[in-house]
Amino acid sequence: MDFRLTEEQRLVRDTAQDFVDRELIPHVRDWEEKGEIPKSFYRKMANLGFLGAPVPEKYGGAGMDYVSFMLLVEEISRGSSSVRTTVSVQTSLSETSLMWFGSEAQKEAWLVPLAKGERFGAWAITEPEAGSDAGNLATTARLDGNEWVLNGQKRFISNGSIADYVQVYAREPGTRRHEGISLFLVPRDAPGFKVTHVETTTKLGLRASPTADLAFDDCRIPKENLIGKKGDGWNQAMRTLNSGRIGIAAGAVGVARAALEAASKYVKDRKAFGRPIGDFQLVREMIAQSAVEIDAARLLTLRAAHLRDLGQDNTLEVSMAKLYGAQMAQRVTDWAVQVHGGYGFSGAFDVERYFRDARILGLYEGTNEIQKLIIAEHILGPSSKK
Ligand SMILES: Cc1cc2nc3c(=O)[nH]c(=O)nc-3n(C[C@H](O)[C@H](O)[C@H](O)COP(=O)(O)OP(=O)(O)OC[C@H]3O[C@@H](n4cnc5c(N)ncnc54)[C@H](O)[C@@H]3O)c2cc1C
Repeated sequence: MDFRLTEEQRLVRDTAQDFVDRELIPHVRDWEEKGEIPKSFYRKMANLGFLGAPVPEKYGGAGMDYVSFMLLVEEISRGSSSVRTTVSVQTSLSETSLMWFGSEAQKEAWLVPLAKGERFGAWAITEPEAGSDAGNLATTARLDGNEWVLNGQKRFISNGSIADYVQVYAREPGTRRHEGISLFLVPRDAPGFKVTHVETTTKLGLRASPTADLAFDDCRIPKENLIGKKGDGWNQAMRTLNSGRIGIAAGAVGVARAALEAASKYVKDRKAFGRPIGDFQLVREMIAQSAVEIDAARLLTLRAAHLRDLGQDNTLEVSMAKLYGAQMAQRVTDWAVQVHGGYGFSGAFDVERYFRDARILGLYEGTNEIQKLIIAEHILGPSSKK
């Protein structure tokens, strides 16, 4: 076992670190207040290949291995969980899904502009009555001549309001549960497609990341916009979510690292009882515990990434990394607030944002409970159904 990074992996990490320090962190407060990240910033990311990191170069991407990609995601998340969410949806969900299931023509038409950062993608499975229970999705797609006609709603879709291409899971009318689900690409100008609601700054966290509700009202798209095999949507969705979850695990490491860096600086500066508070053992304990948990979460994440680079199944390892990372980030950001005392609660310090942003990690792309079910199923086998 070799824990050292390759020269190329170190280069990706260092380039990302420098970019995040210079181009992201100075602006993040402003973007969070406005609820928007400027397109000009994403152009800079695109120029470095960061919007197509895991996509092969022949499809316009940077062709990174997964360990490098996760190091990149950790750095982005250290700067902003909102930006990390947009990048994760673009790369780990939208692009990966096209890479795995798209035809050559679809890759040329949609994957290349996504990987180059010329277009934005969204990935939509959640509905008002289908979250953890995604198999309950009710959006339908029926073939009418040379067109698919979609009807239904999607909820909480990251990038939904800024996306040029929305990948939508819908079922053949009359089918149930995991049967009859397929994946479709809906361009933003498709007739019958509407963004019905966008939430930014009123959310608990991720305030610069738009979360949208979408409606499909006799929405017509060409027959060629079916991605992969008809009826194979459930398997496609589960595989793609596994790809997305590892990015959330890396995101957890990044936001927790930002919190620990802020806490470490503060406890050296702040004095109480005539001494820096970092002298007190109870404070030191929070710093030490944070450092151990962050490292443990990073190791789980990089193990899952390494397995993927080896082409091995990593479903169990990804769920472990996401579950532990989400729990860890909540604890570490909470401790960072704690060592800041009342100042941690005020808006004056970034730890308040880290604490809010960490909360989503155990909710989206499969809640903590869903990850536990996946892990337990690997150990115990499927639970008996009544
Ligand atoms: C900011 C944000 C961005 C998002 N982005 C996207 C996106 O881009 N695309 C997309 O498709 N979706 C997205 N989502 C949706 C997200 O994935 C869902 O919210 C999540 O899967 C949970 O579904 P739910 O909200 O319906 O909660 P529910 O499924 O109703 O869960 C409520 C509670 O019940 C628990 N629960 C449910 N079933 C079980 C069970 N079998 N055993 C134990 N406990 C259970 C859950 O763990 C949870 O604690 C986003 C959500 C948010 C908030």
